[in-house]
Amino acid sequence: MGPLNGKTALVTGGSRGIGRAICQALANAGADIVLNYHSNRAAAEETAATLKTKVRLVQADMGSIHDIEKMFASLGDLRLDFLINNAGIWRHTPMGSSTAAGVDEMLNTNLRGPFWVTQCCLPLLNDGARIVNISSVAGRIGVAGGRSLYGATKAALDSLTKSWALELAPRRILVNSVAPGYITTDMTSDFFKDPAMLEMALKRQPMGKIGTPEEVADVVLFLCSEGARFVTGQSINVSGGSVI
Ligand code: NDP
Repeated sequence: MGPLNGKTALVTGGSRGIGRAICQALANAGADIVLNYHSNRAAAEETAATLKTKVRLVQADMGSIHDIEKMFASLGDLRLDFLINNAGIWRHTPMGSSTAAGVDEMLNTNLRGPFWVTQCCLPLLNDGARIVNISSVAGRIGVAGGRSLYGATKAALDSLTKSWALELAPRRILVNSVAPGYITTDMTSDFFKDPAMLEMALKRQPMGKIGTPEEVADVVLFLCSEGARFVTGQSINVSGGSVI
């Protein structure tokens, strides 16, 4: 028995990294999980095998409206208590050499995706549900080195968070975002393989360490808990103080 027993969460991009840790944290608290993944079925199954509650795997590309709508059609009249918009991608998009396809891919996955998922999810969400968007500290500051578009998608997600909090308050649906700093996942692994890059990242960390997916997931869990019942429209940095 846990505090989230009888509740159900949809986690997008739940197969690896931060999404996996979120599935585990919510399931450890008793929630059943609908785990969305894109292309890595093996990782999704690996994550599912670690969950103690009921889990349903749903494949869909969050960058595709067709896939998102097909996913919701497959869920039928399932009731949901938590929507975690976690799926996101990072692509190097420098000004001067970015392609239209590269720009579209990131906008579609990181921005249009959460918008469309949330729109499709509204009829399934119980009153009093929680929505948590996973944004990034990159949306809070100026970021150089081909990261401007990524940062912009995350700033936009924080903006949606505030507006949805107002729009959905009459249904007591609370909407917040969690903005991670550098976290050790597949997304950052290439970056941190380079000792110079790792050293540069560590220099910006007041606590002298890179974050873990579990440190992000614990804050998501809090936002889904009874303790966060009067918190909405907020964004919480989980960055060890690297961005204040
Ligand atoms: P990973 O690359 O480690 O994992 C990405 C997850 O998202 C996988 O489960 C993947 O599924 C899924 N995914 C990717 N693209 C799609 C898509 N088009 N449709 C559905 N699912 C998709 O990423 P992280 O765990 O690091 O990142 C999770 C979130 O946290 C992202 O939104 C990211 O922007 C954000 N973030 C991460 C930071 C970091 O330092 N790691 C820092 C700040 C924010 P599959 O396994 O099938 O490929």
